[in-house]
Parts: sequence; structure tokens; C-alpha cells
Amino acid sequence: MPDVMSKEQRSNLMGRVRGRDTAPERLVRSLLHRAGLRFRKNVTGLPGRPDIVLTRHRTIVFVHGCFWHRHSGCTLAKLPGTNVSFWSKKLADNAERDKRNAIALRRLGWHVITVWDCRLRRSPQAELRRIVNSIRRQAE
Ligand SMILES: [Zn+2]
Repeated sequence: MPDVMSKEQRSNLMGRVRGRDTAPERLVRSLLHRAGLRFRKNVTGLPGRPDIVLTRHRTIVFVHGCFWHRHSGCTLAKLPGTNVSFWSKKLADNAERDKRNAIALRRLGWHVITVWDCRLRRSPQAELRRIVNSIRRQAE
């Protein structure tokens, strides 16, 4: 089969494979869009390269997979049975980085909302309502 993808299309595809624009992220984005809230995606130049940035509400939304971001106490964040020390260090580093980024963003005056994949799966409507309410509480 001939390669019909442009370089850009291919890099978009690879980007998604690496975890950009995941299904939970798309769900949150589409809800924000329907709620009339405008945002930018994957803004570089801010700590943590946030997934969703609502400039007008000075709010940042991170959509976190429970495993990679080590959701505390969550069954989806359970460590694999092999290479335990590798995984526990790697995932602890991720969680530590998330914490540092959130602190840095708050210092810069951003309101930071973290959305966990498990909660979004369990009760999407309630979780999405929580996000929108939290954003709207930030004055424009
Ligand atoms: Zn979780």
C-alpha cells in the first residue's frame, strides 16, 4: 500500500499513539465545547504542557490516566506484577512531576482542575458537571 499520509498526518497519528488526545480528553473537550467554553489544546510554554487551557477563565484542565499518573488508591493504578521497582520509580516520578507542575501553575495564578479517567468512566455526567461548575466559578 502506498504511503498516502503526509508527514504532518503521520506525526499526528504517532502523537496520539504516545498518549496525546486520548478518548477521555476528547470527551472532556467535546463537553466544554458544547457548554460554550473556549479552550486551547496542549499549550507549550506552560508547566506540564496542559491538555486544555481556558485562557478567559484562567483555568487549566488535566485529564489524567490513572495508571500513568498514579491515581492514589485507585484500582486502575495498580503496579504490574513484574519490574516492580522500575514501574514504581517511573510512576512515582510522573506523580511528582504532576504535583510540581500544578504548584507552578497555581503560583502563576491558574486555577487547576485534575480529571481522573476512572471517575470519568464511572459517572461521566457528574464528573463533567463538576468540571464545568468549577470553571464557571472562575470569573471571566
Ligand atoms: Zn483512578
